[in-house]
Amino acid sequence: MGFATDCIHAGQEPDPTTGAVTTPIYQTSTYVQEGIGKHKGYEYARTQNPTRRALERNLAALEGGVDAYCYASGMAAIQAVLTLVKAGQRVVVSDNVYGGTHRLFTRVLARYGVEFAFQDASDAATLEREAGEFALLWIETPTNPLMKVCDIAALAEFAHRRGALLVVDNTFMSPFFQRPLAMGADIVVHSTTKFLNGHSDSVGGVAVVRDKDHAQWLQYVQNAVGAILSPFDSWLVLRGTKTLALRMPRHEENGGRVAAFLRAQKKIKRVYWPGFPDHPGHTVHKRQATGFGALISFDLGSREAAQRLLGSVRLCSLGESLGGVETLISHPATMTHAGYTPAERDALGIGPGLVRISVGCEDAEDLLADLDHALASV
Ligand code: PLP
Repeated sequence: MGFATDCIHAGQEPDPTTGAVTTPIYQTSTYVQEGIGKHKGYEYARTQNPTRRALERNLAALEGGVDAYCYASGMAAIQAVLTLVKAGQRVVVSDNVYGGTHRLFTRVLARYGVEFAFQDASDAATLEREAGEFALLWIETPTNPLMKVCDIAALAEFAHRRGALLVVDNTFMSPFFQRPLAMGADIVVHSTTKFLNGHSDSVGGVAVVRDKDHAQWLQYVQNAVGAILSPFDSWLVLRGTKTLALRMPRHEENGGRVAAFLRAQKKIKRVYWPGFPDHPGHTVHKRQATGFGALISFDLGSREAAQRLLGSVRLCSLGESLGGVETLISHPATMTHAGYTPAERDALGIGPGLVRISVGCEDAEDLLADLDHALASV
């Protein structure tokens, strides 16, 4: 089936009991069993839930995986995937990943004897020379917030030559624009909180796999650790993915309009968006994705200037997160990337004047007018 058809139907046969066209919210903690070891495939709701399962099958279809497992947040999904790595092993991570990912890796999982090395993965040849041994390569592309582009196919090939796994956090693109498993990645993760849900009313995460052994392990971890996505959140994300193929082209169109507008402003020092033909990753991005997305970062040069802009927007909402139908604007250094130390942020170029915008689905003219008005105060 086509992508839009899968968005609406994959994993969601009409409810077998009532024929309900929308997958019901199975709000139950357990299931009655007919006898010892005799049940309908559902024993306890941490282990199995039909609403969550419908979402998992839906997301597996959208990313082209064999299966998917949903967790209580994007971070919980990331933590679950990292249980594939053992103490003493090394993980190479693309630099300037989401601050929460950096925090989980360096402040929590490093305590369990896993080593994390952050490297610029946007230059595959340099990474090959400098990566050293590793069991897992973790990338975002484009990266958060500096929008560096990593070559998924080249890095998959490189990781596999080393007997390692490639994991792609595909949150920024969504499977509408980019499907890493088809390019050789082993696992895709998402914060479903973002474009997949799309309405800023649920927190969740998913890991999609193309290998049956990984599927088995992630299901095992989902039950063993218990960081599951609730039935209601599963239902909200299912409702969100139904319109993914409708929302993403609008995000794309508005993203392009806003990026062009920002680039024309003298007060803005630099705009980071892979859609610009002179962006260093433009060609690679065009090869591996069908859109440039709605995430744009731009540098106003100082914290004061950023503060003035963020204090003056009226339509764009100042807030963490991204991927909702409403435009969200944020200050990475103090919000999404506060988990980095100031020295780490400086080394990466996440300066005090950097602003990130997640362009929503409003009328583009209204967004441009709001930004124009706010820039007047800078
Ligand atoms: N990955 C990326 C790229 C993100 O931007 C985020 C959150 O902003 C996460 C993962 C974590 O997801 P969550 O907030 O759902 O735990």
